[in-house]
Amino acid sequence: MHKHFQIPKEIEFILNKINESGHKAYIVGGALRDFVMAGKDCSDFDIATDATPDDVIKLFPHVVPTGIKHGTVTVLAGKFKVEVTTFRTEKGYSDNRHPDSISFVGTIEEDLSRRDFTMNAMAYDHTSGTILDPYDGQKDIERRIIRCVGDPNARFAEDGLRSMRAVRFAAQLGFSLEPATQAAISNSLDAFSSVSKERIRDEFEKLLLGKWALVGLELLEKTGLLGVIIPEMLPCRGCIQKGAHVYDVMDHCFHTVQAAPFLVDIRWAALLHDIGKPATRALGADGTPTFHNHEKVSSTLASEILERLRLPNDDINLIVHLIEAHMFHYTDDWSDAAVRRFIARVGIENLESLFALRAADSEAIVGHKVQSDNLESLRNRIELVLQKEHAFGLKDLAINGNDIMALGVPKGPLVGKLLSELLETVLDDPAQNNRESLLRICQGLMPKYGITKHRLQDGL
Ligand code: ATP
Ligand code: MG
Repeated sequence: MHKHFQIPKEIEFILNKINESGHKAYIVGGALRDFVMAGKDCSDFDIATDATPDDVIKLFPHVVPTGIKHGTVTVLAGKFKVEVTTFRTEKGYSDNRHPDSISFVGTIEEDLSRRDFTMNAMAYDHTSGTILDPYDGQKDIERRIIRCVGDPNARFAEDGLRSMRAVRFAAQLGFSLEPATQAAISNSLDAFSSVSKERIRDEFEKLLLGKWALVGLELLEKTGLLGVIIPEMLPCRGCIQKGAHVYDVMDHCFHTVQAAPFLVDIRWAALLHDIGKPATRALGADGTPTFHNHEKVSSTLASEILERLRLPNDDINLIVHLIEAHMFHYTDDWSDAAVRRFIARVGIENLESLFALRAADSEAIVGHKVQSDNLESLRNRIELVLQKEHAFGLKDLAINGNDIMALGVPKGPLVGKLLSELLETVLDDPAQNNRESLLRICQGLMPKYGITKHRLQDGL
């Protein structure tokens, strides 16, 4: 098979340098797969070689020993970080997570045999311009099929993450799973259960950001993987909603992800925004289901789930915040103060994300894109309010904690409490946001908290 693979000059330099030292070097993995698929460029290159990590370190000036024990070093070349890995096989996976031993092997063929899917088990030889493709990966790519190299049951038992990777690739590429590969996923859930949460999270996020995320989520559910990763979601299936909703809660969540922008925190929020609905479902007097307070229950569940999946705290906080804030009901009779309070509660920096979540949510209620005049009106109102440069957070107030302490309030939580009360006042009446007024209002609030000893400041 001859195809002209356009390789960046930095990558060509690395391949040539390894070849000139008497070793073999091939492009493998995602870069080659993407090239075969669409001839499209890729920035993430993996190289397989018979040179040892020591050999590679000696060949290049900038090499980071990223995974010496697995035979991997990262060569830095211009804007590229290229993972160069010595041909290897993995023997025995008694814990379903890590190979018991890794041995370096002599040939690219042996190296390709340990790889997960046929489309990932190809190698490009730049010296001859040919693709080595012992498992017919190109044919499977043409048919848009994900198929294990070898017996899928054995491969998934070896490394439990591979089943999730199969579904992740389906979500990214829009391919289907070859039937035996799909069937083997459900047989290997035990192996999958012992995979580290970090590895699962990384694959899950790639799935969520996939162009075919909906397909990926449906496959996760169908194969049983979802029940292992987020069992809390399972009651969403068959949880019937009211009114305009065309989906049950599970499909609604899946479709919300698909309709959301390609931003991982918004997609997490989309997936989990209604997870509290089954627990809060009740029937109203007329027999229609209600879900009072579901956003609170959803955010509590989401926080537990995301901590378990070891997301960074900043992401968890944002996702949970978006979920908790997703049920706002704007009408044109909101006062400016109500708009300001909304902005303060959501946070200026989160408004766009919340609106994106809400637009995706609306689309997934009726099953098609909707033009929400209501969201547009709120957006316009917010713009008008923001133009006036009011205070929306504690740091926008005309006084700070030190000023409050100077009035005789002891250092501690009460300082923050008073600042919050002042912010409420300012959200209601922005004209109060000046030093003199705020100090006076603060002094007026202090007796309520048992503080009577005023030290007079600033002539007050
Ligand atoms: P991308 O980087 O675009 O997500 P990729 O195919 O390059 O996709 P990587 O995780 O970077 O995926 O892995 C590089 C290659 O290593 C894969 O193409 C595959 O050949 C092999 N590989 C990765 N993980 C596994 C695994 N768990 N089991 C077997 N082979 C694997
Ligand atoms: Mg890769």
